[in-house]
Amino acid sequence: MLNRYGCAHPISRKGRNTLELRGMFTQIEGFDATASRHPRRKTYGVKVGHVRVGGGAPIVVQSMTNTDTADIETTLKQTLELAEAGSELVRWTVNVPEAAAAVPEIKRRMLDAGCLAPIIGDFHYNGHVLLTKYPECAKALDKYRINPGNVGAGQRRDEQFSTICKIARDNGKPVRIGVNGGSLNQELVMRKMQENTDKNMGKESEEIINDCMVISALESTVLALESGLRHDQIIISCKTSRPRDLITVYKDLSAKTEQPLHLGLTEAGMGMKGQIWSAASLGVLLYEGIGDTIRISLTPKPGGDRREEVYAACELLQALGLRSFAPSVTACPGCGRTTSTTFQELAESVQGYIRDMMPIWKTQYDGVEEMTLAVMGCIVNGPGESKAANIGISLPGTGEAPRCPVYIDGQKDVTLEGTYDELAVAFQALVDNYIAKKYPRKTTSRWKGRTTSWRWRFRPSWTTTSRRSIPARRRMWCRRQADPTATGVIKWENTLEFSSLRCWERLPPFHCTPGTGITVVRQGQETKR
Ligand code: SF4
Repeated sequence: MLNRYGCAHPISRKGRNTLELRGMFTQIEGFDATASRHPRRKTYGVKVGHVRVGGGAPIVVQSMTNTDTADIETTLKQTLELAEAGSELVRWTVNVPEAAAAVPEIKRRMLDAGCLAPIIGDFHYNGHVLLTKYPECAKALDKYRINPGNVGAGQRRDEQFSTICKIARDNGKPVRIGVNGGSLNQELVMRKMQENTDKNMGKESEEIINDCMVISALESTVLALESGLRHDQIIISCKTSRPRDLITVYKDLSAKTEQPLHLGLTEAGMGMKGQIWSAASLGVLLYEGIGDTIRISLTPKPGGDRREEVYAACELLQALGLRSFAPSVTACPGCGRTTSTTFQELAESVQGYIRDMMPIWKTQYDGVEEMTLAVMGCIVNGPGESKAANIGISLPGTGEAPRCPVYIDGQKDVTLEGTYDELAVAFQALVDNYIAKKYPRKTTSRWKGRTTSWRWRFRPSWTTTSRRSIPARRRMWCRRQADPTATGVIKWENTLEFSSLRCWERLPPFHCTPGTGITVVRQGQETKR
């Protein structure tokens, strides 16, 4: 039986504080009110680490590293990058003993670096062996992906599948039953093909394969349940590489199970093709309320940026109004009325600025991801679109006076003039200013409305002093409500080595007076300030 922290073991008060603190961050960062405005298919909620998938939770973005997991440094680096980009779950290949052995160390370093993204182990062929021989790997992972088509043949298939499920059960971990069109259980396919012939059912082979994918997922779910897993420990996926098949399969699957569904068009391909094919298929399903977590499987260019798949997934959910991740930029496509590249450069620079700043903004301001910006090319649609955005700039088209009116919340605020660089700097300053004024400083909802002293409120962080208890680079702010003379914001951060906790001031200055009860922990030593 799992306790409310998703753990089968008794948890100390100190441990509970840590877990609550971690859960608090995730719930706040993962929470999105827009999710509740769209009807979703009802599913079981599955906890993957501290992230909830299904059960009405916001649709979760996930991705997968393409590094050799046995290479600790590169896998750690890419995992941190993916998580920073917005991947709420990250999957690692666990294919050989060296990879399984590396998993606990990478996980430890991730936590030390303040990255709490739950990690999924991707197993094929030998998952039952690796998870048995490397129990620390089984413990470190937050979910196991099992492909029922790649877990063995005949009687051994069920045995080996069941072994993985039992290890998951014993470690209190969920699994994903990940059926894939390219590695479907061939015994099942042959049986269904034969049945089609014998009964003269007249089904096309593609139809039979689609049926087999759903059957494989459902039969494997039953086997997982028989192996001791609960409904709230099983996620299902049935990925194909063809959008129409994917839509058919998932619609069928969603009508037959209440397990949460992981969506993804497998082997979607490179660049624009992969993005459009993924968006076309996943968009239909998501719009119909099907899908609890998504991955966009893009093939990166050699040396390309793996985070592209995370950005694509976030954009898709934001486009459908299912989640908000970052301010959106409306930019016109340009036409014969624009003869300079200034407006394209400005649109690109604004988009880049948002991407760079969002990791910071989202820790500081509530609701900033809902902001809308517009960068427009001429007077035809420029003022109209700019007024419709929170901040919009209408650049001059060919023959227009070289002035750029800026509209803030529908009202003309200022007119900018100058070179591209000057415009970019001025517009970014307006964006910064708008955010600082419009969006409230973030406090965690856990503490909102509380009037007790902030020392009490932060006690969990101060009293859990293990290396992992306070994530590095995790910034925490609170307004010091207990002291009416203090108007500043206090910020703490611990370094990667956890060698110190730093406390510094933000404007307006805040002075820590002796005896106010601030306790700073340095290498296990508490210092009262
Ligand atoms: S706003 Fe002006 S520049 Fe942009 S597409 Fe429309 S007409 Fe062309």
